Amino acid sequence: MIEQRVNVTSTTPEVIAELKRRSTFVMVSHVRPDGDTLGAGLALGIALSRFGKRVHYFQQDAVPRNLRFLPGAEAVSREIPDDLPSDALWCFFDMSDTARAGEFLPPIARENTLNVDHHLGNSRFGKLNYVIETECSTGTCVMRLLRAMNVPIDRDLATCVLTTIMTDTGGFIHSNTTPEVLVLSSELMMAGADKEEITEEIFGNKRYAAVKLLGRALSESQLIRDGRYCWSFVDDAMLRECNADEEDTEEIIGHLRTIDGVEAAALFKVFDGEIRVSLRSNGRVNVQAAAARLGGGGHFRAAGLTYVGSLDDARDAVERALAAEGL
Ligand code: 5GP
Ligand code: MN
Repeated sequence: MIEQRVNVTSTTPEVIAELKRRSTFVMVSHVRPDGDTLGAGLALGIALSRFGKRVHYFQQDAVPRNLRFLPGAEAVSREIPDDLPSDALWCFFDMSDTARAGEFLPPIARENTLNVDHHLGNSRFGKLNYVIETECSTGTCVMRLLRAMNVPIDRDLATCVLTTIMTDTGGFIHSNTTPEVLVLSSELMMAGADKEEITEEIFGNKRYAAVKLLGRALSESQLIRDGRYCWSFVDDAMLRECNADEEDTEEIIGHLRTIDGVEAAALFKVFDGEIRVSLRSNGRVNVQAAAARLGGGGHFRAAGLTYVGSLDDARDAVERALAAEGL
């Protein structure tokens, strides 16, 4: 009989028993890392090293400029030590499937994997799957583990976890900002997390190139379907024109979503023959389900996918997927 693992979530004691049993860990963040995947991995990694465990950090892409302030970020790389014990536990943060870790991830036996996440539609790829869809960030899933292990929350841990919250709530704006999230954030500030610094790093400090690129993308945007759908694109030529790079595209999609009357927004990033699509919803259309129709995933209100083909084809496919989800 095929083992049914769908939607099985490991309990907190099961995960903690596994963490105690292992001596060595590799914390894995997803490609194009954000403050949640990285902050969550660093938080658990810092806590485990305090228990005398050996901890490494694997992330295929370089740490983005605005996340280098995170405690421990300098230890993150795509190098994998060649003396890892065979039972090292690979801990994946903030990803629905291991493909999100990128093609440099070596093959890893399921037996040696822990999956910590809060996405809808997580494939439960781990031996243990600590997937809590009601949590606002993967970092707050980690916070549950830290609490259960009685880890004292110092400034470094508080900074990592508050960064995950501020990243995934858009600075306490999105609908996942529950009263519990605000209470926890307050506790993290009292433990030493500097909200001003995190705000400045994540939402301020804009490069001029990013602001120019935003202007270009906004001027290319199209508002269609009676104003319910707004889409735009950025491509290599626009990056060159603005002296910008891919990191400078992060903010654009948020602006498309805030337009009055818009129910769904899409940004097509056409780089190197591949199209990365970011989708956002204002709460009626499930963009995770729309992205999943095209091989992507995410959350109800924020999702993404990669499309191989022309921009016109990508636009048609995404509009059809959104329409199928009620746009
Ligand atoms: P973003 O638009 O910021 O890149 O991604 C929005 C959300 O969708 C994030 O939660 C991210 O993890 C998820 N996401 C983005 N791209 C993909 C993808 O290709 N596959 C899956 N499964 N999730 C994605
Ligand atoms: Mn997240």
